Amino acid sequence: VSRLALGVDVGGTRTKLGLVDGAGAVLAEATHPSVHGDGERFLARLASEADALLAGLGRDRSCLSGIGLAVPGFADPASGRIAQAWESLAFLERPGFAASVAAAVGATCTVLNDARAAGLGEARAGAGMGASRVLALTLGTGLGFAFLVDGAFRDPAPLDHMSGHIPIGHSDSGAPAATCCCGATGCLESAVRAEALVRASARVGGTRCASAEEVAAAAMRGEAAACAAVDGLIASLARGLDAYILLLAPDRVVLGGGVAHVLDDRFGNPLDRLRGRLTARPWPGYQVELVRSRLGSRAGVIGAALQACAA
Ligand SMILES: [Zn+2]
Repeated sequence: VSRLALGVDVGGTRTKLGLVDGAGAVLAEATHPSVHGDGERFLARLASEADALLAGLGRDRSCLSGIGLAVPGFADPASGRIAQAWESLAFLERPGFAASVAAAVGATCTVLNDARAAGLGEARAGAGMGASRVLALTLGTGLGFAFLVDGAFRDPAPLDHMSGHIPIGHSDSGAPAATCCCGATGCLESAVRAEALVRASARVGGTRCASAEEVAAAAMRGEAAACAAVDGLIASLARGLDAYILLLAPDRVVLGGGVAHVLDDRFGNPLDRLRGRLTARPWPGYQVELVRSRLGSRAGVIGAALQACAA
C-alpha cells in the first residue's frame, strides 16, 4: 500500500486539505472555512478532517507519511517556526505549533509558506514541469513568490516571502500609487493584488465587482472598465516581471491565484500582451514562457504534501 501525505493549505478564508501521493496526484480532498483565533479548535478540526479523508479511501493514519502545512507568512521548514501570519491565524505562530499538528494527526509536520508550496506543486507536478528555472507567482489577496531550479527551491532558507513588495513606482491604472500593507508605496503587490483590480475596475465606472473572478467575467463580456483594469494590471505585472527576470532569468513563469483568472486565453491573449510588454533581456536571445497555473487552487495542497513526502 502506497504512502500518502496530507497537504493542508491554510488561507485567510478557506482551508484546503488533500491526500496526495508521491507523484502529486490528489486522491481525496476537502475544503472548509478557516478556523480563526483558536489553535485547539484548528487542531481538532484538522484531525477529524484527516481521519474522514483517510476513511473515505479505506485507509487510516498508519499510511500517512507526513503532513505539509502551507501558511500565509514566514514559515521555516527547518525549525518549524511560523511568523507574520494573519492576525486571525496568529495561533499558527505559537512555538511548537508544527509539533502540535504532528501530535494531533499522528505524522510528522513540515511547514512552508503558501506561495512556496504552490510553486513547488507547479514545478514538480503542474505547469512548471519540464522547465528548469521556474518562477511561480500567486496573485490573490497578496502576491506570493517562489523560485525553483530543477524542482528545488534555489534558496532553501525561506527568506523570499516579501519578494512581492519590490517597488515598481507608479500605478498603471491611472490612480496614485497605493500604500501597501507593508507600509511602502508603489509595491508590485499593491498594484496586482485582487483588491487593486477590483478597485481599479470600480474607479473607471465599472459594474461593482466583488472579486477578481467577477472582474475577469466582466472583462470577458467586453465591459470597458474591467478591460481597462486588466490592462493596468498587465502593465504593472510586466514591470515587476522585468525585475524578476533580470535577477533570476526564469525559463518559465507560472501565474496562479484568483487574479490569474483575468489572464485567461479566452480574453484577448493577455499572456501575449504581457509578454509584449517585457523589456528585460538577461542575454541576447533570452526566451521566457509565460503560462497559467495548471493545478489551480490545489497547487498549495499538492506542494505542501510533496514537501512533506521529501521531509
Ligand atoms: Zn508592500
